[in-house]
Amino acid sequence: KNYTQDDVRQLIKDENVEFLRLQFSDVFGNIKNVELPVSQLDKLLSNKVMFDGSSIDGFVRIEESDMYLYPDLTTFMIFPWATDAHGGKVARIICDIYTVDGEPFAGDPRNNLKRVLKEMTDAGYSSFNLGTEPEFFLFKMDADGHPTMKLNDKGGYFDLAPLDMGENTRREIVLEMEKMGFEVEAAHHEVAPGQHEVDFKYANALEAADNIQTFKLIVKTIARKHGLYATFLPKPVSGINGNGMHINMSLFKDGKNVFYDPKDKEGLSQTAYHFLGGILDHAANFTALANPTVNSYKRLTPGFEAPVYIAWSGSNRSPMVRVPASRGQSTRLELRSVDPTANPYLIFAAILEAGLDGIRRKLEPNNSVDQNIYLMDEGERKKAGIKDLPDTLLAAIDDFSTDDVMKAAIGPVMTRTFIDAKRLEYQSYRQAVSKWEIDNYLDQY
Ligand code: ADP
Ligand code: GLU
Ligand code: MG
Ligand code: MG
Repeated sequence: KNYTQDDVRQLIKDENVEFLRLQFSDVFGNIKNVELPVSQLDKLLSNKVMFDGSSIDGFVRIEESDMYLYPDLTTFMIFPWATDAHGGKVARIICDIYTVDGEPFAGDPRNNLKRVLKEMTDAGYSSFNLGTEPEFFLFKMDADGHPTMKLNDKGGYFDLAPLDMGENTRREIVLEMEKMGFEVEAAHHEVAPGQHEVDFKYANALEAADNIQTFKLIVKTIARKHGLYATFLPKPVSGINGNGMHINMSLFKDGKNVFYDPKDKEGLSQTAYHFLGGILDHAANFTALANPTVNSYKRLTPGFEAPVYIAWSGSNRSPMVRVPASRGQSTRLELRSVDPTANPYLIFAAILEAGLDGIRRKLEPNNSVDQNIYLMDEGERKKAGIKDLPDTLLAAIDDFSTDDVMKAAIGPVMTRTFIDAKRLEYQSYRQAVSKWEIDNYLDQY
């Protein structure tokens, strides 16, 4: 909402808000926050709240550590659940990070997304609409409140109780989301046991990214209340579906969807085809941002409704980009490779930049497939021009490192931090000996 400073003061008074939780995200998409008593409100509203950036992973070096938090009042929201013993409430405000010189901090993913959105408005579009579908698992917790690997039910796609033990938890998640201003479109059990999905209405990129961060917080908080641990890890259990975070996207100009053209046989405009061309062209290179953990690559394997190949289709669900059936204002492209460990601010900046690059270079998407790609052999895929997505974090980082457009999409500061950290992460993984190796090799060698 477009709150003024006076609105915020009034709401704080009327609702008995005692604490202000200032929220931002680091390069890796982790939510960070600092809590202030409401007595500090004036200081906050005059952009004078400081913190030590050197303590945040991937931010800055010790010698330049002072940072300022500038509140974005449109994100002011009172948590419905965080009431203390005497009825006081907690409100959150998402902040942008500024340097002591009053410049937007280059390591702040939210600032960066605003920068890329400015490129979009300069190119004549008014909004980049994103509807995401983050999936999650509910695991049981042990007596000490630690997560176990026991799933909370044996349900499957669209199942009902008693198979779907997550029903009550999911309902409460939906109710809390509505109290916090989300428009929830649907909630259902997903394909795998213990797996769930809640879909909420699309929003412009910045709000959509903020919404994902808030959504994860709500899901984890409510699950815990029910003795369950919610995880967005892409592949917590091998052999069953993983957690995706499909991204539905469209570009609007003055309230109209410019991806729609009723005269085209697919109902897509030239702009939509160029945008799609850009997405396909950069797909391998933005995979590091879409799938940024070692575990992400255990999800991107055949047989579990997650994509493995870079292709698109107007009709079938197996490729990386699908064109959902709705047309008119709902005309959209669905990117299916992304998983919920992606930093939403970074991946949105990257796919917008990829799409805009496709529009600038008038790229044509040429690898449309209308058959099940998993039934094609390597030769058939090669003939159709279908390439593979990178299959490890290391390969994805190597691809990302070669793409100047994708690196520019997140800026040089975060590019360096991200690549360095992810290479280290991969090396640490590589040094660990896994259960698979013991199970498969120990007897044999
Ligand atoms: P699926 O077909 O994959 O099951 P869902 O119905 O679960 O898709 O999710 C569709 C998502 O697309 C919702 O978040 C919805 O708000 C969003 N959406 C609808 N229209 C648009 C649009 N024009 N641009 C972007 N997202 C949109
Ligand atoms: N869970 C699947 C994935 O990993 C997606 C299932 C669906 O189509 O909703 O992407
Ligand atoms: Mg789903
Ligand atoms: Mg989907």
